[in-house]
Amino acid sequence: MSQLVIEGLRAAVGGQEILKGVNLVVGSGEVHAVMGPNGSGKSTLSHVIAGRPGYEVLGGSVRIDDTKLLGLPAWKRAEAGLFLAMQYPTEVPGVALSDLLGASARMVADPDEIREMMSEEAARIGFDEAFLDRPLNVDLSGGEKKRNETIQLGVLKPAFAILDELDSGLDVDALRMVSKRVEDATREDGLGVLAITHYSRLFEQLQPDTVHVFADGRIQETGGPDLATELEDTGYQRWMGEPAAKPASAVALADDPFADPFA
Ligand code: ADP
Ligand code: MG
Repeated sequence: MSQLVIEGLRAAVGGQEILKGVNLVVGSGEVHAVMGPNGSGKSTLSHVIAGRPGYEVLGGSVRIDDTKLLGLPAWKRAEAGLFLAMQYPTEVPGVALSDLLGASARMVADPDEIREMMSEEAARIGFDEAFLDRPLNVDLSGGEKKRNETIQLGVLKPAFAILDELDSGLDVDALRMVSKRVEDATREDGLGVLAITHYSRLFEQLQPDTVHVFADGRIQETGGPDLATELEDTGYQRWMGEPAAKPASAVALADDPFADPFA
């Protein structure tokens, strides 16, 4: 039983504080949903945890058990058991998924074994094996990129996975297979999941234990699985402060029928 522990995490990008104190503990086999409006800092959270350069950590800590992650380069965080399925997977011309996984998994498996695992993973999510040898993500649809990410997850078997909008771009059938694959990993391998999404449809196969509302750089509320469906109905307005005031000209126009509409 392992834990991914995020404590008081604060971070800035472009001189602006985006993460304003994030606290979250994910245990092995658990699924935590993180739902929140656009621009609230969800991808920033995933990038800071995974070690993408360009972010300034202002405070707090992230660890897997006793291993502190924030000082480590991304590859060492991966070695410690962390995996990130990116919202916008990177295109890497000249490098196939088979090359990438061959290099990253060679410490734990021999090349034939890796190839076999990749084929098995492709079959589990109904993905054409031809994609395994094409340049990574180049000219792929959004959904195909997300299935590439899922194959990596299946082969690398991390302890914890952050899924940043893994559902975006997937059609209904692909979504069902991909989310079932992740759910199976939580049972078979004890994978702990931090699933960032806007839509509760991800959670038809992948059962969340806990749902967090993320807005304005921090977790605002935590609840059970029902919170996901509730959020899809109600939106995030109540955590986003007052709606913007009407522009003065619009008020004047509504109140004064003789006002110059072009003023
Ligand atoms: P979310 O994933 O919740 O939609 P993001 O984490 O992508 O939100 O972005 C949070 C905020 O940080 C946004 O206002 C975005 O414009 C800003 N931001 C993200 N990356 C950068 C960057 N490299 N430089 C400046 N601002 C950024
Ligand atoms: Mg995002």
